[in-house]
Amino acid sequence: MSRPVAIVTGAAAGIGQAIAARLLADGFAVVACDLSAFADAAEGREDVVADIADPETPARLVAAAQRAGRLAALVNNAGIGGAKAAAETDDASWSRILDVNLGAGFRLARAALPEMIAGGGGSLVNVASVYGQLGFRTTAAYAASKAGIEGLTRQMAVDYGPRGVRANAVAPGLIETALTRRLLEDPAYRLLMLDGTPLPGPGRPEDVAGAVSFLCSPDARFVSGVTLNVDGGWATT
Ligand code: NAD
Repeated sequence: MSRPVAIVTGAAAGIGQAIAARLLADGFAVVACDLSAFADAAEGREDVVADIADPETPARLVAAAQRAGRLAALVNNAGIGGAKAAAETDDASWSRILDVNLGAGFRLARAALPEMIAGGGGSLVNVASVYGQLGFRTTAAYAASKAGIEGLTRQMAVDYGPRGVRANAVAPGLIETALTRRLLEDPAYRLLMLDGTPLPGPGRPEDVAGAVSFLCSPDARFVSGVTLNVDGGWATT
């Protein structure tokens, strides 16, 4: 039987880098995509430097997966932040944030689904955020995109479950990566974010990678349509 392949986006840094490393360790071949060049190379990982919002990227990634084996997992992780309230958000940043965080994930899933179904099924994992579940200041487009990806996840779970495809989301809380490191230098932000997290934080990219690993594994064979929060208990407070 051909090797299972996982596509992971935003895999050159942060949470995506940890997910790609973990899925490689789990035995997947990995097609890793990022806008930025990859700092290292890894056995079993094919790197594609591309913008996930480029309409040609999904076909490129699926073709790379076909060369490597059987497409068994797609992890839509690449995402960008946005720190504006609704009245301050211009059309260009609204469109870009929605397109990268939601539209590109939809187009990648659309390209991956026929391959997964033909191969007997697979696992779609979308990286959402507690920002899509709770209200925070000045994150209008980001929160909308992350709430949207959770809705899309549930919808795909219903439509494609009968054909063996599971669709789930993970919702990180505060995870220390390049996206948050600069913010965490501000003592007020640090206090606000860490105060909201019952477990000692911040979390690590590997904490999210562990949850994604589970959702892509046979242990999750009857798990679909859920959002698994990796937030130290934040969303329960
Ligand atoms: P990061 O900025 O450290 O890494 C994101 C990676 O995605 C970068 O390598 C970047 O180059 C890549 N990327 C961005 N736009 C891209 C595009 N258009 N095409 C291809 N690659 C692109 O961010 P992170 O903290 O690792 O976040 C990863 C995901 O987790 C994002 O979806 C983010 O919204 C989500 N998230 C992060 C946190 C956190 O606390 N760090 C919390 C909740 C959700």
